[in-house]
Amino acid sequence: MAKERKIRCDCGEILEEKTAKFDHFKTEAMVCPNCGFITLTKEQADNYVKLKQLHQIIDAERKIIKIGNSMGLTLPDRLQDFGAKIGKKVKIEALDSKSFKVELMA
Ligand SMILES: [Zn+2]
Repeated sequence: MAKERKIRCDCGEILEEKTAKFDHFKTEAMVCPNCGFITLTKEQADNYVKLKQLHQIIDAERKIIKIGNSMGLTLPDRLQDFGAKIGKKVKIEALDSKSFKVELMA
Protein backbone atom coordinates (compact mmCIF):
# COMPACT_ATOMS: atom_id res chain seq x y z
CA MET A 1 0.00 0.00 0.00
CA ALA A 2 1.27 3.50 -0.85
CA LYS A 3 2.39 5.67 2.03
CA GLU A 4 -0.06 8.47 2.79
CA ARG A 5 1.13 11.95 1.95
CA LYS A 6 1.14 14.37 4.83
CA ILE A 7 -1.87 16.66 4.82
CA ARG A 8 -1.50 20.06 6.40
CA CYS A 9 -4.48 21.69 8.09
CA ASP A 10 -5.41 25.34 7.41
CA CYS A 11 -4.22 26.10 10.96
CA GLY A 12 -0.72 24.83 10.13
CA GLU A 13 -0.69 21.48 11.97
CA ILE A 14 -0.16 18.14 10.20
CA LEU A 15 -3.27 15.96 10.25
CA GLU A 16 -2.96 12.65 12.12
CA GLU A 17 -4.64 9.40 11.17
CA LYS A 18 -6.89 8.27 14.00
CA THR A 19 -10.30 6.92 14.81
CA ALA A 20 -12.82 9.75 14.82
CA LYS A 21 -16.53 9.95 15.34
CA PHE A 22 -18.05 10.94 12.03
CA ASP A 23 -21.83 11.33 11.84
CA HIS A 24 -22.91 8.67 14.32
CA PHE A 25 -20.16 6.10 14.15
CA LYS A 26 -16.43 5.72 14.42
CA THR A 27 -14.20 5.53 11.38
CA GLU A 28 -10.54 6.08 10.47
CA ALA A 29 -10.01 9.72 9.53
CA MET A 30 -7.39 12.45 9.30
CA VAL A 31 -7.73 14.65 12.37
CA CYS A 32 -5.98 17.93 13.21
CA PRO A 33 -4.52 17.68 16.75
CA ASN A 34 -4.73 21.48 17.06
CA CYS A 35 -8.18 22.63 15.89
CA GLY A 36 -10.00 19.29 15.54
CA PHE A 37 -10.61 19.60 11.80
CA ILE A 38 -11.55 16.21 10.32
CA THR A 39 -11.22 15.05 6.74
CA LEU A 40 -11.08 11.72 4.94
CA THR A 41 -8.58 10.43 2.40
CA LYS A 42 -9.96 8.67 -0.69
CA GLU A 43 -9.37 5.27 0.94
CA GLN A 44 -10.91 6.36 4.25
CA ALA A 45 -13.90 7.77 2.36
CA ASP A 46 -14.42 4.44 0.59
CA ASN A 47 -14.30 2.61 3.92
CA TYR A 48 -16.62 5.18 5.44
CA VAL A 49 -19.22 4.68 2.67
CA LYS A 50 -19.03 0.90 3.17
CA LEU A 51 -19.36 1.29 6.93
CA LYS A 52 -22.33 3.59 6.49
CA GLN A 53 -24.02 1.02 4.24
CA LEU A 54 -23.39 -1.67 6.85
CA HIS A 55 -25.01 0.48 9.53
CA GLN A 56 -28.03 1.04 7.29
CA ILE A 57 -28.34 -2.69 6.67
CA ILE A 58 -27.86 -3.98 10.20
CA ASP A 59 -28.82 -1.27 12.70
CA ALA A 60 -32.33 -2.15 13.81
CA GLU A 61 -34.36 -3.56 16.65
CA ARG A 62 -34.92 -7.25 16.19
CA LYS A 63 -36.73 -9.92 18.10
CA ILE A 64 -35.17 -13.11 19.42
CA ILE A 65 -36.95 -16.03 17.77
CA LYS A 66 -37.18 -19.72 18.60
CA ILE A 67 -35.22 -22.07 16.36
CA GLY A 68 -35.72 -25.66 17.53
CA ASN A 69 -34.74 -25.58 21.19
CA SER A 70 -32.47 -22.61 20.73
CA MET A 71 -32.88 -18.86 20.45
CA GLY A 72 -32.00 -17.18 17.21
CA LEU A 73 -31.71 -13.87 15.46
CA THR A 74 -32.28 -13.29 11.78
CA LEU A 75 -29.85 -11.29 9.70
CA PRO A 76 -30.82 -9.16 6.71
CA ASP A 77 -30.16 -10.68 3.29
CA ARG A 78 -28.11 -7.68 2.18
CA LEU A 79 -25.50 -8.62 4.77
CA GLN A 80 -24.27 -11.08 2.13
CA ASP A 81 -22.61 -8.10 0.43
CA PHE A 82 -20.38 -7.97 3.52
CA GLY A 83 -19.42 -11.63 3.44
CA ALA A 84 -22.18 -13.15 5.58
CA LYS A 85 -23.65 -16.39 4.28
CA ILE A 86 -25.26 -19.61 5.49
CA GLY A 87 -22.64 -21.78 7.18
CA LYS A 88 -20.24 -18.90 7.71
CA LYS A 89 -18.47 -18.98 11.06
CA VAL A 90 -18.91 -16.04 13.39
CA LYS A 91 -17.23 -15.15 16.66
CA ILE A 92 -19.47 -13.74 19.36
CA GLU A 93 -17.99 -11.70 22.17
CA ALA A 94 -19.67 -9.98 25.12
CA LEU A 95 -19.06 -6.23 25.32
CA ASP A 96 -20.97 -5.55 28.53
CA SER A 97 -23.86 -7.11 30.42
CA LYS A 98 -26.35 -6.06 27.73
CA SER A 99 -24.47 -6.13 24.48
CA PHE A 100 -22.27 -8.35 22.37
CA LYS A 101 -20.63 -8.17 19.01
CA VAL A 102 -20.80 -10.66 16.17
CA GLU A 103 -17.67 -10.85 14.06
CA LEU A 104 -17.57 -12.56 10.67
CA MET A 105 -14.60 -14.93 10.60
CA ALA A 106 -12.21 -14.63 7.67
ZN1 LIG B 1 -6.09 22.54 12.36
